[in-house]
Amino acid sequence: MSKVWFVGAGPGDPDLITVKGRDLIAKAGAILFAGSLVSIAATRWAGEACEIADSKGMTLEEITGWLIEKAAQHETVIRLQTGDPSLYGALIEMVQPLDKAGIDSGVVPGVSSAMASVAAASESLTLPEVTQTVILTRVEGRTPMPPGEDLVALARHQCTLCLFLSITLIQKIQSDLLEAGWQKEALVLVVHKASWPDEEVIVRSTIETLYDDCRAAKIKSQAMIVVSPTLGARTWSQLKKSKLYDKDFTHRFRKSVELQEKKS
Ligand code: SAH
Repeated sequence: MSKVWFVGAGPGDPDLITVKGRDLIAKAGAILFAGSLVSIAATRWAGEACEIADSKGMTLEEITGWLIEKAAQHETVIRLQTGDPSLYGALIEMVQPLDKAGIDSGVVPGVSSAMASVAAASESLTLPEVTQTVILTRVEGRTPMPPGEDLVALARHQCTLCLFLSITLIQKIQSDLLEAGWQKEALVLVVHKASWPDEEVIVRSTIETLYDDCRAAKIKSQAMIVVSPTLGARTWSQLKKSKLYDKDFTHRFRKSVELQEKKS
């Protein structure tokens, strides 16, 4: 029976696709990829006979129509998506018509651009006693935000915020963060084309200088904005260490030094 796989291609670097995703691409009869972002992964790993198409100019109906048509001809059909398919990827809108058509489908997760962006800058999304929470969100543009999810409300938590699809709305981000109680000196990380060989740009900025810094770096698209009290922690002299590796902390796999000494 045919199956349509929604595969996360990762953030850009073709090596960041999962082994499972790559193996499915290698045996796929047809692949529909989402624009230039994921074309390299598709063409690099696919077999010679594989039909490869770009969905750039397609409507949702055309995309699902294509997937349904190809599923009638091939055992493995792939919809290749950027990053992870579950984030801003119209996944459910594509799965529903397949369900209606009685076509089996599955999802292979991918490395999201949020993860690739912090990796590019060697930053951590969480830090003990600083923040233990990450919010993946976007600023309201043409897509309205549901009630309670405006940036001012979310930013009041003072935790890590990863802002997708928001690079054209920097001035709103600046004013919303200040309204939510962030200091204007607070650090912000912007990564354009994270993990893309030779194209990645990392900008370290502050809330106050964010707009000017992004303009100076000519970043207008494909960027992740990370606002977090953890940024820059690599150079802090005082760091609360993770309990996991603390010598005085016992967990399932390791006894604390104190308990080990008592035993011996
Ligand atoms: N599913 C994707 C997100 C798709 S929405 C994921 O998990 O990453 C598209 C947005 O993702 C862009 O506007 C940008 O904010 C972000 N993005 C995608 N690829 C990126 C990359 N390589 N570097 C930085 N941001 C990226």
